[in-house]
Amino acid sequence: MNFDYIIVGGGSAGCILADKLSSSGKHTVLLIEAGGSDASLWYKVPIGYAKSYYDPKVNWMFYSEPEAQLNNRSVYCPRGKILGGSGAINAMIYVRGFKNDFADWASNGNPLWSYDQVLPFFKQLETHASGETEYHGGSGPIKITQMKDGAHPICNQYLAACNEIGLPLNDDFNGETPLGAGIYDINVNNGYRSSSNYEFLAKARNRSNLSIKLNTIVNKVNFNGKQAVGVNITSMGKIEDITANCEVILSAGAVHSPMILQLSGVGPRELLAKHNIDIVHELDAVGKNLQDHICASLYYEANVKTLNDDLNSLWGKAKTALNYLFFKKGLFALSVNQAGGFFKGDTNLSDPNIQLYFNPLSYQIPKDGSNNLKPEPYSGFLLAFNPCRPTSRGTIEISANDPLAKPFIRPNYLTTAHDQNEVLQGTKLMLKIMKSQTMQKITVRQTVPDYPLNTDAEIIDYFKNNSGSIYHLCGTCAMGDNPNTSVVDQYLRVHGVSNLRVIDSSIFPNVTSGNTNASTMMVALRGADMIVNSEKMQ
Ligand SMILES: Cc1cc2nc3c(=O)[nH]c(=O)nc-3n(C[C@H](O)[C@H](O)[C@H](O)COP(=O)(O)OP(=O)(O)OC[C@H]3O[C@@H](n4cnc5c(N)ncnc54)[C@H](O)[C@@H]3O)c2cc1C
Repeated sequence: MNFDYIIVGGGSAGCILADKLSSSGKHTVLLIEAGGSDASLWYKVPIGYAKSYYDPKVNWMFYSEPEAQLNNRSVYCPRGKILGGSGAINAMIYVRGFKNDFADWASNGNPLWSYDQVLPFFKQLETHASGETEYHGGSGPIKITQMKDGAHPICNQYLAACNEIGLPLNDDFNGETPLGAGIYDINVNNGYRSSSNYEFLAKARNRSNLSIKLNTIVNKVNFNGKQAVGVNITSMGKIEDITANCEVILSAGAVHSPMILQLSGVGPRELLAKHNIDIVHELDAVGKNLQDHICASLYYEANVKTLNDDLNSLWGKAKTALNYLFFKKGLFALSVNQAGGFFKGDTNLSDPNIQLYFNPLSYQIPKDGSNNLKPEPYSGFLLAFNPCRPTSRGTIEISANDPLAKPFIRPNYLTTAHDQNEVLQGTKLMLKIMKSQTMQKITVRQTVPDYPLNTDAEIIDYFKNNSGSIYHLCGTCAMGDNPNTSVVDQYLRVHGVSNLRVIDSSIFPNVTSGNTNASTMMVALRGADMIVNSEKMQ
């Protein structure tokens, strides 16, 4: 079997590539996805997020190795295993990242990825509720809904509290400046998830030059010398080789793309030797530079109604369901991470360094891996934060010469003084907001932790014992011009080999400030454009 392009992984990035590379009709394209179909309504309805959170059918459900700075806790790292990938199971918050995030991408030897260069692709991606503007697209496939139209009323108290303590308000975190408190935008279209599988792939699925193989694992990339010539797959228990006439493109995400490279003989020499993998090309940076956002929440009981009231009574649940059924509105059509914003933990900074979430719902994520995500039995809400640009760096390494063996995920959270300092800044900011008269008026008590956080030591201790990933793993096949410290060049071609690219969240040289899905989709759109343009030049 042979195809012009083989795309490995049908996630946020892979679905866009499959559409764009097959659209001219000139090339045959194969999209290979380890997970299954996205047809179930559960994944289209935003509230389905809760169902997929611990579901091994659609989620790789990884855990990190015990983290030294988190008191040796392993941290949960969900990853989508379904057409649409993590974009099909994520919380749909739509934030692009800051201008300076992309300035830093550019200064890593990638001048084609400055903010000015990527903005047109962000715009191409979306149809924003406010239409075409300097910062927004008005006719792209991904539909952006402003949650301010349907957020729970208690979010206004949060905004008023921020205003009371002198924090600016912001209507658009993807506009001129991200600074301030506001209500998030989400990639939702009339009550349905608007992700790359539903918006890009859906229209491409019936093209005769596009084939999609689900429930199929790519074991490795096959090489002829240093030229990628195809992939080795396992599908329905059968192992086979498929040839790529033009290119293999890895879009398997920040955990699997470096794993596949390592299994294929492209990676750090010592690691490959340890697992008896023949070296195709030594590339030390494969699996290094892992970055993520780590967050912790504070929980409160309120004396006003919150989403807990809707979800804890039969009538409330029925009302919420009917509101969705008839009007595609309410909690089932939104994200629970409704309000938040970007703030400076230190006024001397040029950009915000703390991202906040205000959820009008209080719930504890079960730690036993069960799908028992139950709201607490009283009116509650939570405040959470994560530092925007952590400086700790981690690794992804295969644990065996086996594509199905769980990898070693070592984020090395909080290993720098910078990151520990931001934990103090973020927590103090949340406590300051909670001390405002506005929040005091509506708060009964802080429920978790059930003791005050008075000292720096108490804050750090709480964070170390209670923080978790906010699921923005990236950077493990970083883009740059130095093959000693990066994996792909700015055209997303793997250094030192030919006919092989990586196009997904693993190529981020640095994590973006904010949620990573929009930037991943932008990377895919720009990457596809580069491939199509390089064809034109040939
Ligand atoms: C629970 C959760 C919540 C999140 N919430 C948000 C949010 O609210 N907003 C936001 O912006 N971001 C969010 N994110 C992050 C965002 O979804 C990801 O950054 C983005 O989806 C990454 O896209 P990707 O294309 O790099 O990888 P993915 O979308 O993960 O796609 C990789 C695909 O490759 C497949 N694959 C892997 N290995 C193989 C193999 N060997 N063979 C075949 N196929 C393979 C996988 O099954 C998967 O479908 C969240 C992520 C998670 C997990």
